[in-house]
This record gives sequence, structure tokens and C-alpha cells, in this order.
Amino acid sequence: MKRLALGAAAATAVIFLIAPATIAQNKPKPPQSVRLYVFDCGLLTMSAPATFGFTKEEIGEKQPFAVPCYLVVHPKGTLMWDVGVIPDSQVNGTAQGISTVTKTLKSQLAEVGYSAADIKYLALSHLHSDHTANANDFAASTWLVHQNEHDAMFAPPPAGGRGGGGPMASATYSKLKDSKTIILTDKDYDVFGDGTVVIQYAPGHTPGHQVLFLKLKQSGPILIAGDLYHLPQEINMHRFPTFEFNKEQSAVSRAKVEAFVKQTGARLWIEHDLATFNLLKTAPAFYE
Ligand SMILES: [Zn+2]
Repeated sequence: MKRLALGAAAATAVIFLIAPATIAQNKPKPPQSVRLYVFDCGLLTMSAPATFGFTKEEIGEKQPFAVPCYLVVHPKGTLMWDVGVIPDSQVNGTAQGISTVTKTLKSQLAEVGYSAADIKYLALSHLHSDHTANANDFAASTWLVHQNEHDAMFAPPPAGGRGGGGPMASATYSKLKDSKTIILTDKDYDVFGDGTVVIQYAPGHTPGHQVLFLKLKQSGPILIAGDLYHLPQEINMHRFPTFEFNKEQSAVSRAKVEAFVKQTGARLWIEHDLATFNLLKTAPAFYE
């Protein structure tokens, strides 16, 4: 009996010795340089060329849109950028309206070693429902948002509606109201202070729409454009969706971003452009 008890005590001691190390190993080590993971957060099947300023002769009747989510891992912390169209709890692999999501964001984060609790910052390109689905999961992160976008998300709509705008799903982001929040200005926001991960104000599509600039060591500069455009044809044909919050502002933001892209040689990634998305390395592969 005594020997058994001692054995059990020894085993317990061993477990206590091993456990903290095991937990520590599960936390991914910060990389030496910035990494970008692209997740497949679904597909939207749009069939509304006029909504994006085109005829069906110009771009066809159906527009399949990619829905990516992005994880930036910097030596000093992590940033989640855009969080999908269907909340993980409702993902079932089948079409739900125009949206089809086959993989949860949670499972894709886990595959590369992260959970929502590991995410230091959350930023959404904008408030539309195809970018906010899992926002509540990141309520413990620090939220990076412009005041006017924050207001549009939480202020009660004025009588007569908001005056345009795309679909919103306020229940998917309601917990952000109590999140630690950093209100951004119209100046670039350098997330980690070394110029490698920078949020740029690009309003128009929504009041406080924003885009993300990354300067990666091997892959070079990349500009993730949110919904500044939905289709590449919008760039040269100067078309705008019918549901812009402020089309004139969008035109100014586009000109600014296009000049920046030209000056830096950055690759411009239109998030919903399926042709772009299909060429990307998706997680667990990454850009660095
Ligand atoms: Zn969108």
C-alpha cells in the first residue's frame, strides 16, 4: 500500500513538473520576422452586377467572391484582420443564403497554433456582415477602429435610416462594445511601431473603412484593400458599388491607395477577388 501511495505521489510530482512546460510549448513562439496567414473564411455567390456598378455583359451574371480572414504574427504580438461571414457556431459546410463556409476560423487558427485568446489586436476593414462574423470571439483583444465606424456600429440609426450601406449583423460584434479599444485617426496607425504592419484610413465604402499595409521581409510589401474594391475591374473602369456610404470619399481613398501602391511597389490584394485569392498561399502556409 505504502509503495503504491509513494508511486502515486511520484507520478503526481512528475505531472506537475511536466505540465507547465507542455503548456508553454503549446503557445507558438513569436517569429523572428512578420508572418501573414491567409484563412479561407468562405465564399459568397453574388449575382448582382448592377450592385457593383456593372452590366452583366461586362462582368457576367454571377460574381463568386472569396471571403478571406488574415492573421498577422509580429515578433511583438498578433493582429486578426477581418473575421468572416458566418459565425463558427453556425458553420455547417452547406450554403446559407449566398454564403458557403466549410471551415471554421477557430479550427484554422488552431491548425497554426493559435486561439482567439492569443490575439492581441483585432481590426476589421469595415462593419459589413461578411467581415464581422466571429468578432465576438475576439472581444478580449484590443480593438483598432475609427470613431466614425465605431459610431456607425453602435449608435442608434438616425430616423430614416443610415443613408445607404451594406448589410450589418450587429449581434456578431456586440461584445466589442466593452473591448479595450484604440480609436484611430486619419493618420496611418503603425500597429507594432516598426512600420511593418500599418492600418491606413480609407473611408467611403463605410464611414471609417480601413486598409492594411504589410512590409514582409521576403514577400515584400502587400496592401490588403478591404472592400475599397470588390472586383479588379473597378480600378480601371472607375466603377463603384451602389451601396457606398460616400462615393466621393471612396474615390479619394482609392486615388490615395493607388498612389501609395505605385510608390511602394506593394501588391494590391482585393479581398473578395476570387482570382487573387486562388493564387494565394493559404494557411498553414504563410507569407513572411
Ligand atoms: Zn465585403
